[in-house]
Amino acid sequence: MAYRWDTGTFGKITKFYVDLLISAPPTPLVPLVDAVTQRAGISLYMKRDDLIHPEVSGNKWRKLKYALADARKRGFTTLLTFGGARSNHLYATAAAGAQLGMRTIGIVRGEEYSHKDTTTLSFCRAQGMEIFPVSRTEYRQKHQSDYLAEISSRFNNPYIIPEGGSTPWALPGVREMVEETIMQLGEAPDFFAVPAGTGGTAAGILAAQQRVMAFAALKGGDFLSQDILALAEDPEAAKRLTLIADYHFGGYARHTPALLQFMKQFEQKHQILVEQVYTGKMIFGLYDLIGKDYFKRGSTLVAVHTGGMQGRLPNA
Ligand SMILES: *Cc1c(COP(=O)(O)O)cnc(C)c1O
Repeated sequence: MAYRWDTGTFGKITKFYVDLLISAPPTPLVPLVDAVTQRAGISLYMKRDDLIHPEVSGNKWRKLKYALADARKRGFTTLLTFGGARSNHLYATAAAGAQLGMRTIGIVRGEEYSHKDTTTLSFCRAQGMEIFPVSRTEYRQKHQSDYLAEISSRFNNPYIIPEGGSTPWALPGVREMVEETIMQLGEAPDFFAVPAGTGGTAAGILAAQQRVMAFAALKGGDFLSQDILALAEDPEAAKRLTLIADYHFGGYARHTPALLQFMKQFEQKHQILVEQVYTGKMIFGLYDLIGKDYFKRGSTLVAVHTGGMQGRLPNA
């Protein structure tokens, strides 16, 4: 597939804007060596995208970067997006908007949040985001064009970013993470492993022609394959995607003592903190599969730390 990004002046102009506005050095790629990986004979690395920015963290930076540049280039001054009351995407959009001097509006799932703020929502407000809690019924319309048209006129034509920031603009941003990793490793790994919520990150890696294991962070996550492949816009991508839906630990934002125990051991062993909503589940699943000899000896795997550390227990 040809990347829209690679072609035409539009891409070049947008890249120029982006580099001026927000640029980040490559994040570290660190080896994870321990008894499990050694016994299985595999090389495992972690791509530390959690270190990319203190607030616009991990995959949210990658996914937002070119959407923000597009918004700026087309003269928008307001960003509007959607999320739950603990959404890392709302958090990142609020921080990025503040940094770029843009007005931000968050449509939040659940009317009850008009009366109480979560830690995420108070952070968003502190960054200047205007918060509009709506009923779950209204929220469900978030992808419908008539609803979006109404929202657009209600808020005076903002730049609308869908939930999770998973737009086609997410692809070139995630692709940069892939290119950095291949450069650092000196070759492409056999697999990238990522947690999946909306699937935009997994789609970006597929669109960069790499093989992906996506670990669903939510229960019943099998439907995600379809979403991921639709975003990747590459008919061949299905061959490179493995969706793992067994490590949800009870559902989105749920966790178990076993998960927290595993995370603690991992953190102590490798001196890398992870959170329990996304990366903790992915790394648990990955180690479980490595321990069961799921991967051929000699394989090279890159686990992407997608950030979101403000949601780590006990801070959350
Ligand atoms: C949003 C998020 C994800 C999910 O990414 P998708 O592209 O929506 O699949 C994974 N990890 C963290 C830390 C996130 O904040």
